[in-house]
Amino acid sequence: MTLVDTPATLTGGPSLAQERRLVTAIPGPRSQELMARKAAAVAAGVGHTLPISVVAAGGGVIVDADGNSLIDLGSGIAVTGVGNSAPRVVEAVTAQLNSFTHTCFTVSPYEGYVAVAEKLNELTPGEHVKRTALFNSGAEAVENAVKIARHFTKKQAVVAFDHAYHGRTNLTMGLTAKNIPYKSGFGPFASEVYRAPLSYPFRDGGLSGAEAAAKAISVIEKQVGAENLAAIIIEPIQGEGGFIVPAQGFLSALVEWAAANDVVFIADEVQTGFARTGAWFASEHEGIVPDVIVTAKGIAGGLPLSAVTGRAEIMDSAMAGGLGGTYAGSPIACAAALATIETYEADGLLERAREIGSVLIGRLNALRTADPRIGDVRGRGAMVAIELVDPATGAPDAALTNAVAKYAHANGVVVLTCGTYGNVIRFLPPLTISDELLIDGLSVVAEGLKNA
Ligand SMILES: *Cc1c(COP(=O)(O)O)cnc(C)c1O
Repeated sequence: MTLVDTPATLTGGPSLAQERRLVTAIPGPRSQELMARKAAAVAAGVGHTLPISVVAAGGGVIVDADGNSLIDLGSGIAVTGVGNSAPRVVEAVTAQLNSFTHTCFTVSPYEGYVAVAEKLNELTPGEHVKRTALFNSGAEAVENAVKIARHFTKKQAVVAFDHAYHGRTNLTMGLTAKNIPYKSGFGPFASEVYRAPLSYPFRDGGLSGAEAAAKAISVIEKQVGAENLAAIIIEPIQGEGGFIVPAQGFLSALVEWAAANDVVFIADEVQTGFARTGAWFASEHEGIVPDVIVTAKGIAGGLPLSAVTGRAEIMDSAMAGGLGGTYAGSPIACAAALATIETYEADGLLERAREIGSVLIGRLNALRTADPRIGDVRGRGAMVAIELVDPATGAPDAALTNAVAKYAHANGVVVLTCGTYGNVIRFLPPLTISDELLIDGLSVVAEGLKNA
């Protein structure tokens, strides 16, 4: 085994060599050293997909301390759409660091926060008058969206869906569907959270969007009642739940029902937002206009920022002081967000997401034709997944999914799994990845399937 000297100061960003390069087994000795320290110092509940020690990343690669260069098909869970250490982000953050780091926007405000709010009001679906509030994490923004909807409607119940993922704080754990690892033993959960069935074309017997919506609305009316319901919250394409794209017409029927019943429709676009699906927001593919939209992940090139954007009358209902947080809308994260949004626009990354989508869908469908263990290929833009099954019964095959992911990791490709049944491999490459790397990464996954 050759150890190349990889200084911790290796510069990341798009100028990193764009190649898959294995110089040690993965994890290599330096990564293993870090993992030993980690096990002794960090809570065990903080797990890893791939136990390496990262020293640099950019374009479509992640470089570890052993000198291995891995293809990034996860973007740190759909965060670094503009790539790691994107040049405009680095420049804007550096400038902001040199002027001021923090004042707390609710103590003494600054322009960056307002500029991000203006941008979000402009980019999110709908021509109505909007307001935005900024936070730090996706879960925090989801909590605030629900707070605001309750305050506005003076009602309390919230409906989330089967397979939903909304975060790890107490309210968002309650909204999340999957027990292990997100909920088990962490209760009690917040009250007034109810669950409705989702449109899941691969597994619901091919219900149309309208039929699936009628089923969900019937559950809501029978078990909750519109007169008690403040909000419906849904991911337009579910992320952790398995990249489930609901049947056409499902979301629009829910939006219509919510509007007719004084219920706030909240789109959780934390994972689907910001160019990922080839549109600014996934809601646009369905032509829906959410009352409130929650964003985070891809918003700020890797810096922690999230937002709630919605109709002015809803957003303005909370009293001054009712919304905020010490770090919410940090000037550094806001500078990063403005540079990130500029990068999506200036570098044509929405278009690039669509191109990546056609490479992914084309190659994965070809694999599926040859291999019936791939039950479904689905997604939009650079948010695509395969669902792995037992071809005889259609039963989810989590063991195969894990074996393929492990093979990819060992061979220098960062892929993520997801799904209620743990049988989905999802592809979320940075939009700065080259076709060569993307295709190389997919061929490693294909080899993994063949070997499994
Ligand atoms: C990741 C995610 C969240 C939670 O965001 P955090 O920043 O991890 O708190 C909420 N909703 C969706 C759809 C997500 O994908």
